[in-house]
Amino acid sequence: MRGITAFSAVAALWLASTGTGTAAPSLTVLCGVDEMWCAAMKAAYEAKTGHKISVTRKSTGDILNQIRAEKAAPTVDVWWGGTGDTHLQAGSENLLEAYQPAHERDMLPWAQNFFAMSGGRSAGIYAGALGFAYNADLLRELKLPAPTCWKDLTDTAYRGRIQSGNPNSSGTAFTTLATLVQLFGEDEAFRYLAALDRNIEHYTPSGAAPIKAAARGETLIGISFMHDAVTQKQAGFPLVIVAPCEGTGYEIGAVSIVKGAKNIEEAKRFVDFALSPEGQGTGAASGQNQVPSNAKSALPLAAPDISMIKMVDYDFATFGSPEERSRLLRRFDAEIAVTN
Ligand code: PLP
Repeated sequence: MRGITAFSAVAALWLASTGTGTAAPSLTVLCGVDEMWCAAMKAAYEAKTGHKISVTRKSTGDILNQIRAEKAAPTVDVWWGGTGDTHLQAGSENLLEAYQPAHERDMLPWAQNFFAMSGGRSAGIYAGALGFAYNADLLRELKLPAPTCWKDLTDTAYRGRIQSGNPNSSGTAFTTLATLVQLFGEDEAFRYLAALDRNIEHYTPSGAAPIKAAARGETLIGISFMHDAVTQKQAGFPLVIVAPCEGTGYEIGAVSIVKGAKNIEEAKRFVDFALSPEGQGTGAASGQNQVPSNAKSALPLAAPDISMIKMVDYDFATFGSPEERSRLLRRFDAEIAVTN
């Protein structure tokens, strides 16, 4: 636990100092994964190339909004990490540059499919299943039943004791919304979300925050990617991780080059590194537990075995289309109370 905290402090310093040196960074990256992985990737890329780069962590929806807002004069070169359906949406809005990465032939089939679906504009870098986790100590203290299904989370016993992300900013939370629609059908999913809303203490801007809050006992249950929960559990927190009984969805995390990127050659070099076993190894080295997309990359030892989880056949094309994503978010805002 202490090791993680110390690393977080170093990561914060790294990220805060980004781009403040005398020389301009040779690449500007927006990073959608955990801060610790953002920092480890920056360090590894700089060590390999000797080039100083700027890496800033943001939630997936916020990255999409920034890239959209800067369409006429992009300040970002690469979008690395974050849920793939949001990258697909950016691709359909003509905000991304097509690029054939050096390692594409070594990619696992799901990543090759994703690359083809994106029209060659986004490459899959990892996969991970959605779920939730609860704080076992708090559950025992409160003498509450252990939830095992999505539907259990609407039990009044959990009133005010669940956190989830806000799907407008968080790719994790949009994956939750899209997963529930695919599992239950749209109207039933929105009825479920309205019932769940009565138990939600707080919608967080970032998708990993609910799991971190549950890990620390600040809330009882966090909805998030299971690999995020594994990382917290490995750090010593008393989490029980649940693959919901009805089944669940998953993400393909992606990397894309922004259309009009000023540092296009460096951007291509970064994407190649991000898809190489060496680049992907920075995930496990910084305590992350996603499944890497390169068949030659080592699987983190504690990565959830996604082949053992009951999974929906996630429809990335539909839920990554601008019309569908925007329509679902509008409906979420109209029907489900979001106070932050
Ligand atoms: N953290 C991890 C470990 C992830 O796998 C992802 C999704 O790719 C995110 C964060 C996404 O963050 P957010 O939900 O804040 O967009």
